[in-house]
Amino acid sequence: MTATGWFAGCLLAALCCCLGATPARCAQPLLGKADVGAIKAFVLSDGYREMDAKLLLADTPDKQEAVKAAYPDGKTLNSLNVLLFKSGDRVVLVDTGGGKILGPGAGGLPKAMDEAGVKPEAVTDIVLTHLHRDHTGGLGLDGKAAYPNATVYLSKAEYDYWLNPDNEAKAPERARSTFTTAREMLALYPGKVQTFEPGKELLPGATPLAAYGHTPGHIALLLSSNGQNLLFFADLLHAMGLQLPRPDIAIAFDTDPAQAVQARKALLERAAKEGWTVTGVHVPGPETYKIKASGQGFELVK
Ligand SMILES: [Zn+2]
Repeated sequence: MTATGWFAGCLLAALCCCLGATPARCAQPLLGKADVGAIKAFVLSDGYREMDAKLLLADTPDKQEAVKAAYPDGKTLNSLNVLLFKSGDRVVLVDTGGGKILGPGAGGLPKAMDEAGVKPEAVTDIVLTHLHRDHTGGLGLDGKAAYPNATVYLSKAEYDYWLNPDNEAKAPERARSTFTTAREMLALYPGKVQTFEPGKELLPGATPLAAYGHTPGHIALLLSSNGQNLLFFADLLHAMGLQLPRPDIAIAFDTDPAQAVQARKALLERAAKEGWTVTGVHVPGPETYKIKASGQGFELVK
């Protein structure tokens, strides 16, 4: 698979971010295109958020050193990317960004879709990798379904966890908004929310793969067509520069950090072995990558 086509404006915006502009400034839509056999895929930016490096779980001196070396000023800019693909007669969004609920750094997806030439009404399906708010916030727009003709899919494990009132009642205060947003956003799609078990084809050329740990039902999505593959690994990595070489470092957002580490290692190992092109939600820019095993982790193939 080859990445094709970058817009000059996108490159400028990316440069802006590298130079340390505020996340709000970086909320200009970015868009990358990639063909996967007969599937047309687009990596769209919903925006950026500044992330405190303290969120990375460095519980040993060598992990602390690795975090400090990767982020000497203690913070990093975190992309919020969304995958859009056209396969046969389907137009599919994978995640929806944070929409208006995450503040000025997010909510750029509608503009990015416009640049890709796709109207919200044209979206036939939405696959949610998990129900954190930076992935579900864009499901709604001014109290209505932002994608009125779409069916929404998520893993059964994810649905069962976040839509369970008992889990919501015993969740710590900081996690409550995730439950509320998940419930409210999915309610905008009455009768059109479907669950799946990962591991088999869900939509033409698209197979969800279990990557549980970040959340109880977190999935990655593998696109395959004519022998070409793109793995959208969602939130398997939040700090690519660090967690690629050190996949053993988890993040405070992980529901089960040990399981998240295991999922990251296993799926990246598979991607490296199979030669899959990869990209995710919190990677720099709207780019796709190839990776290979290196030391205790992985590195980018130049
Ligand atoms: Zn996320």
